[in-house]
Amino acid sequence: MNKTLNIARGYCANWNAGKCIGCVFTRTEKGLSFRLSKKLSGKKCSVEKGCEYFDNIVIPGIQDKRVTRKL
Ligand code: SF4
Repeated sequence: MNKTLNIARGYCANWNAGKCIGCVFTRTEKGLSFRLSKKLSGKKCSVEKGCEYFDNIVIPGIQDKRVTRKL
């Protein structure tokens, strides 16, 4: 398992035994909205191919910067 996938496993709330729940939060002008992404939901975690949720929500939310330093 590479480092990025390992971080997703440890920190992404959508991680479910290697598959993605697909619950995606988005910041809007009115606040925070969430939806179930058909593209992600129930599929194998695709973080190694790129995941906006991981980049925009998961990574900024990790307090221990030693975890993300080598990404
Ligand atoms: S695809 Fe993205 S949102 Fe889904 S489990 Fe992987 S990192 Fe999390």
